[in-house]
Amino acid sequence: MTLAADRIRIVLVGTQHPGNIGSAARAMKTMGLRRLVLVAPEKAPNAESDALAAGADDVLAQAERHDDLASALAGCTHVMGCTARSRRVALPELDPREAAVALADAAIDGDVALVFGRERTGLTNEELHLCHQAVHIPANPDYSSLNLAAAVQVLAYEVRMALLGRADSEEAAGPGDPRASHEQLEGFYGQLAETLDAIDFHKGRMPDSAMRKLRRIFNRAALDERDVRLLRGVLADAQRMARLAGDPGSTS
Ligand code: SAH
Repeated sequence: MTLAADRIRIVLVGTQHPGNIGSAARAMKTMGLRRLVLVAPEKAPNAESDALAAGADDVLAQAERHDDLASALAGCTHVMGCTARSRRVALPELDPREAAVALADAAIDGDVALVFGRERTGLTNEELHLCHQAVHIPANPDYSSLNLAAAVQVLAYEVRMALLGRADSEEAAGPGDPRASHEQLEGFYGQLAETLDAIDFHKGRMPDSAMRKLRRIFNRAALDERDVRLLRGVLADAQRMARLAGDPGSTS
């Protein structure tokens, strides 16, 4: 299965400093992004790029190369252009957080791209017109231009937060913690219902409504198998204590 993060392309157009390409690769990898696309860089990645990529040399090595932006965007359903100057073109303008949420949603079932311009001159109007929306980091209006790789870092971070915030995303589960299965969740909910009875939580109210609300809370938490084991351990202890309270003579 393709992760949503792998449907997100970071496209650098006409980059002038090879070091920035390396730093951008590092910024991406720290946030779980891998798809770097270079459009006509002024200088090809070199030793300086490698040095600044540090452990992200794999992202750099796998970077795609294109001669123009249009071909780099082939197959993308959603394209956002990052611009240091606000309201330069007649495109809807989003802040990084809004952009990241929209991209994370669109990446569920299609390829999407975040496009970054040249260090000196940014993106041309023609290039911006290939984008569906503009993204502006609301920086100091008197000094709003971030270093290219710093801008990539801000956007990559917001994309990661958006992906982590989607309870159903693979990213949220993390490696090695398989999401709890339907059966495991139902086992947990069954034990939770028994425990609520045992501790007299409902006090004559309808148990169904409390269970519906509790299910909603736990479903939002996207529990993995370990979480379910821990919660069931807590419930088992609560059940044991309730039995003891109901039968003070018992020692079990
Ligand atoms: N002098 C250029 C700045 C380019 S900075 C200009 O005025 O356009 C290089 C790239 O980093 C920009 O093209 C943009 O993609 C990104 N960037 C830098 N600062 C940004 C900001 N405040 N908001 C969004 N993107 C920014």
